[in-house]
Amino acid sequence: MGNRILIVEDKADVRDSMCQFMLLTGFAAAAAASAEEALEHLRQAEVDIVITDIVLPGMGGLELTKEVKKGHHADVIVMTGYSDNFSYEGAIGIGASDFVIKPVRFEELLLRVRRVLRERELTEERNRMMAELQTLAITDGLTGLYNSRHFYTQLELEVDRANRYRHPLSMLLIDIDHFKEFNDRFGHLEGDKVLARFSQVLKSCLRTNDAAYRYGGEEFTVILPETGAEEARTVAQRIRAALEAEIFSPDPGRPVSKTISTGVTQYHPNEEMTAFINRADAAMYLSKQNGRNRVSVLHASPSEVDPSAC
Ligand code: GH3
Ligand code: MG
Ligand code: MG
Ligand code: MG
Repeated sequence: MGNRILIVEDKADVRDSMCQFMLLTGFAAAAAASAEEALEHLRQAEVDIVITDIVLPGMGGLELTKEVKKGHHADVIVMTGYSDNFSYEGAIGIGASDFVIKPVRFEELLLRVRRVLRERELTEERNRMMAELQTLAITDGLTGLYNSRHFYTQLELEVDRANRYRHPLSMLLIDIDHFKEFNDRFGHLEGDKVLARFSQVLKSCLRTNDAAYRYGGEEFTVILPETGAEEARTVAQRIRAALEAEIFSPDPGRPVSKTISTGVTQYHPNEEMTAFINRADAAMYLSKQNGRNRVSVLHASPSEVDPSAC
């Protein structure tokens, strides 16, 4: 389908001939006799370019341009009579993409339409690339999870929120058990496969507001907003059990399973972010010390240490 053009012109003969020309040139053209009618059309259908007369009964073309730029994705080309005294700068300043003087030569209008469309495609392409780059910048390449840079950014935001609203906030720190041994036995590539699959399992165990991050080599973190330590422990246990049930086959006919050690802790109001992370790390080490493949919860006050392992 051709690009969608909407012509807004109160003079029926001009409107019809422009519309006819656009249709013949291969565009999907539609016409409106007023700005109000044009806005109604825009509410119903997608339009790429609005070509509007400035002098219209009711709402004028410049006002229409502002409305289009406010609420729609279309570009606007404005048309004005030579003696109407509207300036190019004025039209561009409120968001129009181009300005033509009436009577409009169709060949000129066509060139302008094509240029606006080309710029539009380039802008879209650039926006797509920017979005892709932004995603890449916060994503870990091997696992597809968020990376540690994003972890720090998000944790800072969540810590601020927890302090401001006094909402609970918890974190998990997860480390794969005896991973070096696995790499040594089966090779680094097989180890990578475990990291990738583990990340999928981890994601599948999370609730909508929880997010998982690859913190470092074979270490992962999960931020659980609006969640106290006990609820976080339940999530950690679900992840622990799910990973333990996964079967890896680095060698045909020799199924292997992997386990993880997890530390759980809840944020203590007004403490430093690093203290929060260090406590999650200490809780994870408790799980290692107590035999691995387990979840340990550590509370903020040292007297409340609860190395409850399960
Ligand atoms: P522990 O149970 O005490 O955690 O033992 P571990 O062997 O898992 O711990 P250690 O810290 O000694 O070793 C971590 C291993 O993780 C060593 C390293 O080769 C491996 N590793 C880290 N990043 C990657 C990676 O991207 N791919 C692979 N295949 N292995 C990795
Ligand atoms: Mg007019
Ligand atoms: Mg480690
Ligand atoms: Mg490890």
